[in-house]
Amino acid sequence: LPEQEAFDIEYWLLEEAKLQRMPKPKPLAGRVALVTGGAGGIGRAIAGRLLSEGACVVLADIDEGALEAAKGDFAKGFGADQVRTTRMNVTAEGEVAGSFADAVVEYGGLDILVSNAGIASASPIEDTTLEVWDRNVSILATGYFLVSREAFRLMRRQKLGGSIVFIASKNGLAASAGASAYCTAKAAEIHLARCLALEGAEAGIRVNTVNPDAVLRGSKIWSGEWREQRAASSRIDTSELEEHYRNRSLLKRSVFPEDIAEAVYFLASDLSAKSTGNIINVDAGNQISFTR
Ligand code: NAD
Repeated sequence: LPEQEAFDIEYWLLEEAKLQRMPKPKPLAGRVALVTGGAGGIGRAIAGRLLSEGACVVLADIDEGALEAAKGDFAKGFGADQVRTTRMNVTAEGEVAGSFADAVVEYGGLDILVSNAGIASASPIEDTTLEVWDRNVSILATGYFLVSREAFRLMRRQKLGGSIVFIASKNGLAASAGASAYCTAKAAEIHLARCLALEGAEAGIRVNTVNPDAVLRGSKIWSGEWREQRAASSRIDTSELEEHYRNRSLLKRSVFPEDIAEAVYFLASDLSAKSTGNIINVDAGNQISFTR
């Protein structure tokens, strides 16, 4: 090579190496996310995943003690500026509006909503009281409506689009005997997400759903009576539940909170810029294995 040309190539290679070494901005840097039920098992994993990709995260939950604990843990890992908490009962219209307003004051806007707060109860239809029915419908279906409405109002005003992710359930698609209130409310969430995907498309607001199968580890739902009820309906001991779900799945694998968080990260970020109105089943193939 002529001397000048060799020099140019060497110079170019050095510049390229310098660029490679420069820290790259994280994919969610500058974005603000609000995670309902953010102090629970799946919500915490989701918050952690979004924080690790650079988002500022507002954890919203009705359980103030758990919120404080989660905030302390995340502040140690990511720094206190990246995480905020807000007490929010998703069924209380005024509290929902107040929590979203707080998030905007803290971080200047909202780009991502993960609607995840939930409960679960199981009982045969004859024993399902109106109170139990209403509790499932109000925390799940109505709660998802109230937080989405608030996010839509904000995101439309900002004119920057946004991503809304619902944590519904495998039970929103597949029926389950003895849990009709929960299953019906979860089905409503899934359909709400599809309606909102239509409404938000023009404004660049994407709405997608993640359907987990049983996630036993870390979940407060699974430490309560739901555990006993589900074991009884499968005629097994509670200690056998995890193995039972693993064996029932096509991939013979358990689903963990981190698996749900990974799907949420995909849907919250620009990786899924062309997806809306969709469902990701994180179920180790359970949906298919039911039909075999
Ligand atoms: P979890 O109990 O560990 O977390 C749920 C969180 O929601 C809790 O922190 C709780 O305080 C909060 N919450 C409950 N009611 C609330 C209300 N009215 N307002 C605000 N916050 C409220 O349960 P999880 O397993 O992490 O479940 C999270 C979501 O995932 C739920 O919507 C659940 O239905 C769904 N899901 C869970 C599983 C599973 O097997 N764990 C499977 C499918 C779907």
